[in-house]
Order: sequence, then C-alpha cells, then structure tokens
Amino acid sequence: MSSAYDPNNIFAKILRGEIPAHKVYEDDAVLAFMDIMPRGDGHTLVIPKLPARNILDIDPAALAQLIQAVQNVALGVKAAMGADGVTIQQFNEPAGGQVVFHIHFHVIPRFEGIPMRPHSGDMAPPEVLAAHAAKIRAVLAN
Ligand code: AMP
Repeated sequence: MSSAYDPNNIFAKILRGEIPAHKVYEDDAVLAFMDIMPRGDGHTLVIPKLPARNILDIDPAALAQLIQAVQNVALGVKAAMGADGVTIQQFNEPAGGQVVFHIHFHVIPRFEGIPMRPHSGDMAPPEVLAAHAAKIRAVLAN
C-alpha cells in the first residue's frame, strides 16, 4: 500500500533550497542533479517540481513531461560523460527499492565492461560531483 507524500523528504528540501545539490538542469517543471552516491560516473537524478511520491500517484500528464526531461537529460549525460550507454532506473515503495519518497528517475551513464556500483554505496567526493555536474551542465545548456 502506498502512503501520502511527505513534504519533508530530502528531494523536497533540495527543491526548496534548504539543502544543496549539484544541479545540472532546471526548468519550470523539473530539476536534475547529481546523485551523491553514484552507481556510475555522472549518475544524475531527474525529479518533478510538483509533489508526487512515486509512479503510483503521479499525475499522468506530469509523468509524461517528466519522462521527456529524462530523455533530454539522458542524451546530455551520455554526451557529456562520453558514455557508451545509459541505464534508467526508477523505484517505487520500499519493497520496490525506493528510499527517497519524491518520484525520481536515475540516469546512469554506462561504459563497456564496467559494472554498476551498488545502490546506496559510497558517497562521491563533492569535487568529483561538481566536476561531473559542470560537464553535464555545459552540454544541457546548449
Ligand atoms: P531510491 O529511492 O532507491 O531511488 O534511492 C534514492 C537515491 O537518492 C540514491 O541513489 C541516493 O544515493 C540518492 N540520494 C540520497 N540523498 C541524496 C542527496 N541529498 N542528493 C543527491 N542524491 C541523493
């Protein structure tokens, strides 16, 4: 069973500017920023600005807008990181692997022969995240 949206989740705090994030793209409807525990170099998260817990409660029109942003970010991340491929992940409810309860899509650059690192593994150094974010921002700005 799914629960109500909690406005104190960590991504809501990022949206309100209460905690920092390495942002790579933003418009009226969506925000994209670096995952702090990247499963691949350049791992980026894409979230809507409106409150939605996950795919089970988001308005379908907002989901359509969000997935278009995911495609755009995936193209930008792949180009910026020089990746060979991209893995998209999205988890729903604890049983589905969800940890943060504001809907988000993972955009994970993939490189031939390099496995993904584990979910919720190590935090990347801030300077590494900042460097990857700068590369991705530069591509997405064009
Ligand atoms: P999940 O809900 O399973 O998709 O996992 C949440 C994801 O959010 C994980 O990949 C975490 O590394 C990531 N994460 C958690 N806190 C932050 C944060 N403050 N900034 C960026 N990414 C985060």
